[in-house]
Amino acid sequence: MPIDRDRIAQLHREAPLTDIHAHPSLKAYLFRRNLWRHYRSGSTFNPFSSRSDFRMLARGGVGVVWNALHLPERELFGCFWLRAAGLLVLPAYAKLVRGRPFTRLLEMAGAMEREIARRPAFVELATTAADVRRIRQLGKIAVVHTVEGAHALEGDPGNLDRLADHGVAMLTLSHFFDNGVAEQTRGIPRGHFVSVFCTYDLGWSRPVPLTDFGKTVLQRLTRLRMLVDVTHCTPGARAAVFQEMDSSRPVVASHVGVHAVQADPYNLQDDEIRHVAATGGTVGVIFMTHWLAAGAPKKGLEAIWRTIEHVHRVTGTFDHVALGTDFDGFTDPPDDVRDASQLGRVTRLLLERGVPEEDVRKILGGNAQRALERGWR
Ligand SMILES: [Zn+2]
Repeated sequence: MPIDRDRIAQLHREAPLTDIHAHPSLKAYLFRRNLWRHYRSGSTFNPFSSRSDFRMLARGGVGVVWNALHLPERELFGCFWLRAAGLLVLPAYAKLVRGRPFTRLLEMAGAMEREIARRPAFVELATTAADVRRIRQLGKIAVVHTVEGAHALEGDPGNLDRLADHGVAMLTLSHFFDNGVAEQTRGIPRGHFVSVFCTYDLGWSRPVPLTDFGKTVLQRLTRLRMLVDVTHCTPGARAAVFQEMDSSRPVVASHVGVHAVQADPYNLQDDEIRHVAATGGTVGVIFMTHWLAAGAPKKGLEAIWRTIEHVHRVTGTFDHVALGTDFDGFTDPPDDVRDASQLGRVTRLLLERGVPEEDVRKILGGNAQRALERGWR
């Protein structure tokens, strides 16, 4: 069968095509963006572009988006230049440096929900795995809230209960700075415009990679039936999470590469990939060549393929790899897959490389849905 657009669109519907890590809500909240409009996503880094707005998602045939609620850390504004830049977009800056982080996080969820509510016939918030199935059967886009960075908990495990009540499916433990939960790897790429202008203390100041509070967080996630995401954790913190978690609970690495292809502590080692697989979790391939390929080429499709292929080689199946683009996370996506509307290029590549359709559907969405069914409410 030729690889025509209809076949790709059909696979996207059947999978359904799922992005397990994107940040449309960052743009909706910080810049009060209407997510039913598109803000040009060119090939240069542009914090004001939109890459996972509803128009791009619909055009790409995305059926499910795991919307990462993430409040950029206040430590970022310890840098004079970022503070100066913040003053140019004062309303956004004020949201980041004033008020309680947890309150701000809920406001961000609210901003996303307002955008969803503009067109209830096309998109709906899912608060359980069964809800995702129901919304898909109606042919709508299902949005699943996740939270990136346990700093937003403000040290209160009770805030996890509030997130669970709000329908949040997953918590990414770490992010850029010491959050008193789990040790973070360097997450701001050298060469990223922020690294050019700002120097930060990105270190971890605790004797253990997973604190007692971190262990409490993991226990609470298990009790609340929320997923854990080890992206941004150091290898030591990932090992501690694997050790602490009951092996029946799926572990997710939502937006990463693999160490064998790009040797960086941010990326998963082979035994870690096997561990994720053993829990029924999945690896989400990030769409940032910095983490995927040596020398960070401008084009990324080939590096995305090599990463998927490596997970297949290590686990012997295509059952534990998914897409976690990080679109709209102030990232610089590859020039050959710049936004959600272009995700069909990945599907085409998988088919061209001879991946059977059944496995293509797993990579595009089946594996993500399985992790939700097993690990979420
Ligand atoms: Zn991230």
